[in-house]
Amino acid sequence: MKNKNFSLKSKLSLSISLVVLLIVALISLLANYFIEDQFKDYILIQQKKTTHQIITSISQQYNNQSDSWDIDFIHKIGMDALYNGYIISVYDSKNNTVWDAKSCDMELCNEIMNDISDRMMVKYPSINGTFITNEYPAINNKQQVGTVKISNFGPYFLSKDDFQFLDSLNQLLIGIGIFSLAVSILVGFYLAKKLTNPISKTVEVSKRISFGDYGARIQEETNTKEIDELILSINHMAETLENQENLRKQLTADVAHELRTPLTTVQTHMEALIEGIWEPTTKRLQSCYDEITRICKLVNDLERLAKLEGQNLNLKKTSINLLELTNKVIYNFEVELKNKYLKINVSGNCQDIPADEDRINQVLTNLISNAVKYTPYEGSIEINLSETETSALLSISDNGIGIPESELPYIFERFYRADKSRNRMTGGSGIGLAIVKSIITAHRGSIEVTSNLNEGSCFTIILPKYRNQ
Ligand code: ADP
Repeated sequence: MKNKNFSLKSKLSLSISLVVLLIVALISLLANYFIEDQFKDYILIQQKKTTHQIITSISQQYNNQSDSWDIDFIHKIGMDALYNGYIISVYDSKNNTVWDAKSCDMELCNEIMNDISDRMMVKYPSINGTFITNEYPAINNKQQVGTVKISNFGPYFLSKDDFQFLDSLNQLLIGIGIFSLAVSILVGFYLAKKLTNPISKTVEVSKRISFGDYGARIQEETNTKEIDELILSINHMAETLENQENLRKQLTADVAHELRTPLTTVQTHMEALIEGIWEPTTKRLQSCYDEITRICKLVNDLERLAKLEGQNLNLKKTSINLLELTNKVIYNFEVELKNKYLKINVSGNCQDIPADEDRINQVLTNLISNAVKYTPYEGSIEINLSETETSALLSISDNGIGIPESELPYIFERFYRADKSRNRMTGGSGIGLAIVKSIITAHRGSIEVTSNLNEGSCFTIILPKYRNQ
């Protein structure tokens, strides 16, 4: 693994934080844009209203009867307006100046004008604002009594309070952004941790398994479907490996054990013959020969099984007739069947199937040999053939000694013999069914067994009827 790879936890928390950051930034930008836009409209309406109010208030200060203006009040209105950014001058109907903010306090006017332009130029340079003057008629009693000139920064301007409001809004948005980011980092970290913890545990246990600790299991429980499946399959893999390992150990021990007995017998017999303790009679030599034959059979069986279990089990498939093959195999057992007074009956039929004749012959031989071996004198063996739409079924049932239920799951394993003592008599090595299973699996078929102790057993092989199935 390259060092520059980041951990899933960092990647996840970083991605979540980044997404939240982007969303917050986008929301802030959009909010800012829309608020400013709306605010600008609001300010324009407000400015219109203020202008209208100023004109109305000033117009009302004209007294029709005395043809005079209330200068004090106009001064008050004018100064208020000036502080709000409006520079006012009022003229009577003969265009004589009634009141003028500039002549009243030029310095203050300039200061306020500069203040507003500076602020607007800095914050809104794009609107290219400048002070504009508009002239409005002063109407009193439906008659124009004069003119009001109002200068203000246009097209619109924001007061100090307005700027403050916008600043606070921006600060609030930034605050919300920072808060959301902090929360997202925490939540992202928490989520990433929750998600990656079981993965890290799984990696740790997988490493232990890869170093040979097949007993290691992941105990972690999550509510994530995919991780649960991963944990389940790794635990399953470990279990399979553990079983395989046990089987391998068992196999080595069993091979040693199986070989030792006949070898010791042959060794002691040979020693006795060499040292002259025994006469080399035909009977003694025959006994040695039998033991050697047993060893050879075992080694042959092992070799056959190893070949079958190897990856390149090449099947020479031809179209075979199961009924014909069964009868052919039964023919080879004629002597044994007669010796034990066993009845054998074949029923049913099925269409020809694509299979390796020699291998299926081996399967039938092993299964029938077992039925013969494990069925007592005068027992009976039933062979039945049938088919479904896609498979051919062949069952071999006997009314023999049966197999204990607890042992059924193991009988297809190499060297497994239910009730070891009985096999000493029958001479079984526990490889026959392992070979059967390997051949059937190679044909993409399956084998099932049902059995009741002391009542009998039934082995059913299911083989596909068509190629490419
Ligand atoms: P073996 O050479 O010992 O028969 P197999 O692999 O053929 O080895 O069978 C494994 C074990 O399954 C046997 O030892 C026997 O205990 C049991 N078994 C197989 N077939 C039968 C059967 N038809 N009836 C009873 N037990 C059986």
